[in-house]
Amino acid sequence: MSDKTLFEKIIAREIPADIVFEDDQCIAFRDINPQAPMHILVCPKKPMPMLSDATPADNALLGHLLVTSATIAASQGYGDAFRVAINNGAAVGQSVFHLHLHVLGGRRFSWPPG
Ligand code: AMP
Repeated sequence: MSDKTLFEKIIAREIPADIVFEDDQCIAFRDINPQAPMHILVCPKKPMPMLSDATPADNALLGHLLVTSATIAASQGYGDAFRVAINNGAAVGQSVFHLHLHVLGGRRFSWPPG
């Protein structure tokens, strides 16, 4: 039995995904249940369950994920208006315990978020 998370399986190409970007540090694919016209998940290849597991050694990786999120939003035509969200913990909605940034765009978003 595999103890890989769903997103590790996507990274390993063990299950399919609509991949829009990949480099040596991260992969980005479309959310299977999109909450906006653009809803892309950006994941580090390094297994890290959640943002609160990051340490200062991850500063460059986390910066890379943010800059990549903006680049992907721009490449999808939403470079001027997009939202990046991270759910950290089951209590705020995290369901897959491999860090991922939700990159959303193409509709109006309320503030504060629900
Ligand atoms: P979170 O609730 O923040 O952990 O986000 C997990 C996200 O993964 C949800 O928005 C799901 O719709 C999405 N998701 C679950 N399974 C897949 C999959 N096989 N491919 C793409 N996205 C998925």
